[in-house]
Amino acid sequence: MAKAQICDLQQHLEVTQNLAKKRKNDSMEPAVVVKKSVCSAASASSKGVSSRPSIGVRSQYGVGLARAIHGTEARSRAVNCAATVAGVIGKKPRVAVTAPSIVQTAAVLSCLGLPAVGSKKRPAWDLKGQLSDMKVQLGNMKTRVCEYTSKLEMSELQSRQLHESMDQRDKQLDAARAHINELQSNLKAVELLLKDREVELAKCQDENTAMQGVLENKLKMKEMELTQKVTCIEEQQSTIAEQRDMIVERDERLHCAEQERRRLHNTVQELKGNIRVICRVRPLLDSEREGLSEIQNVQFSASDEKVIILTKSEESHTGHDRKDEFKYDFSFDHVFQPIATQKDVFEDISQLVQSALDGYNVCIFAYGQTGSGKTFTMEGPDDMTCDTKGMIPRAVDQIFSTAQELKTMGWTYKFTASFLEIYNETIRDLLVTKPEKNVEYEIKLLNNKSKQLHVTNLKYVTVTMKDQVHNLIAMAKANRSVAKTAANDHSSRSHSVFQLQIEGSNSDRDLQCTSTLSLVDLAGSERLDKSQSKGDRLREAQAINTSLSCLGHVIMSLSSKESHIPYRNSKLTYLLQNNLGGNSKTLMFVNLSPLEENFSESLNSLRFANKVNNCVIGTAQVNRK
Ligand code: ADP
Ligand code: MG
Repeated sequence: MAKAQICDLQQHLEVTQNLAKKRKNDSMEPAVVVKKSVCSAASASSKGVSSRPSIGVRSQYGVGLARAIHGTEARSRAVNCAATVAGVIGKKPRVAVTAPSIVQTAAVLSCLGLPAVGSKKRPAWDLKGQLSDMKVQLGNMKTRVCEYTSKLEMSELQSRQLHESMDQRDKQLDAARAHINELQSNLKAVELLLKDREVELAKCQDENTAMQGVLENKLKMKEMELTQKVTCIEEQQSTIAEQRDMIVERDERLHCAEQERRRLHNTVQELKGNIRVICRVRPLLDSEREGLSEIQNVQFSASDEKVIILTKSEESHTGHDRKDEFKYDFSFDHVFQPIATQKDVFEDISQLVQSALDGYNVCIFAYGQTGSGKTFTMEGPDDMTCDTKGMIPRAVDQIFSTAQELKTMGWTYKFTASFLEIYNETIRDLLVTKPEKNVEYEIKLLNNKSKQLHVTNLKYVTVTMKDQVHNLIAMAKANRSVAKTAANDHSSRSHSVFQLQIEGSNSDRDLQCTSTLSLVDLAGSERLDKSQSKGDRLREAQAINTSLSCLGHVIMSLSSKESHIPYRNSKLTYLLQNNLGGNSKTLMFVNLSPLEENFSESLNSLRFANKVNNCVIGTAQVNRK
């Protein structure tokens, strides 16, 4: 665009310059012509040559002058003309009119292109005639000179106008030149810019090409990597599939092994007997040590952990110095000496606790006189630590950790906890701090089919974590001790029953099992001196005696396979009926005080435990569907 515009302008400039030159020449010519014509005319006349000025044809003034000079009076006219022209120029004519020579006049006339005066030549003497002719001619010439003068003025005007227009054109020309220069510099700048851009473009193209190369290489690398990874994934997938098959196979084998373990475990438990007795003798308390360094009347066998011997020396009937020593030895599933820790004791019962998860009802209770260590064994001391915690918290810990392990074999469990107390044949909920008045707790069958028992209005708490159960145990302990202060060690005359209902299911194998783990801290088994007991205490003692002897009767009846088992004779046996039958595993702790003063109570406890120990109450069956 810019180039085309510049070309147009250059052409226009050239045309304008040519035009201007031409005009200048044209406007310059007349003056020159006039001067030249005058000179040439003058020179021609001086030479005596009558000639037509050649330049006259180039301008209208010249043409007019040439025409005017033609004629008969050319001579005189030429003289006048020269005078007139000289006057116009502002100079006096050198030729004197009054005494012209004929030759001079003719020269002037021929110079002016006028014919010589009079076609007829007047005689030389006719000066008058000649003068009048010349006057006529002068008049004509004056008219002509006037005409030429006005024409000259006209042409001068035109010349001025031409000059002005030329100046204008010059200015336009200058402006156009400046514009052209500006455009040319712009063009140069644009061209430079264009060159820069072209260089940049070339650079960019080079970079692009280089980048494209790099990217293509990278793409190729990535494609190779991808192919490798796809191959690797395919290999891994086939390995996974193989391993999955192996896992399924192993699962199957594991399941079979687990079933076998349960079967063998149960066989071992059966061989041990479905009712087992563990004897535990507590250590002397600090307050009881006065003078006694060791327990006097309880002996243990160094070689046999199952034997316990109670000794008593009595004055001989035969002499004062002699003392007869009576020995009562008993053998149980295990006898724990005072030094045994809670951990040692739990190790012995943990297998039984495991059975609860396998679908067997399990009942563990502690029997013994008040102060023999039942509560210590079952729950732990008041200032319980991790080492001293009792069987209930340990059993809960084990149940929850084993349930977690069994999850990997597809087993999921639901646990429901309850904690109650039976005092004077009345049930009290230990998980309720402020019991409502007149709330009745009745033991009822949940439904005839399952034969599962439940206590009406009792709080059954679904628990998912062991800590929740520990909190419930602590709550029950606190509620029990509140009653203790109010009713003078009420706890020793009540049975506390902690129950954990376990519902397991294995959806992969469509298996379910339900069981109850019952942990019972029985009321003190000591016999009260009936003669000294009156009112409430007597009723308490009778209730305890009744329920404990009922427990004994139930176990004996089960042992002798009687058709009627007197469960309903006490709340305790009624509540525990599913846990004491052939379908359950029972363990009894017989707790003993090491003090000599408790000898007869210890003996009674051991005798009761011995009866229980000799019982075989059928084969436990797993509660499976
Ligand atoms: P019970 O519940 O049979 O009435 P406790 O469990 O309350 O008896 O025990 C009576 C006292 O003996 C408590 O102070 C208890 O801490 C302590 N005790 C019982 N057994 C042990 C033991 N194995 N080791 C240490 N202290 C014990
Ligand atoms: Mg107690």
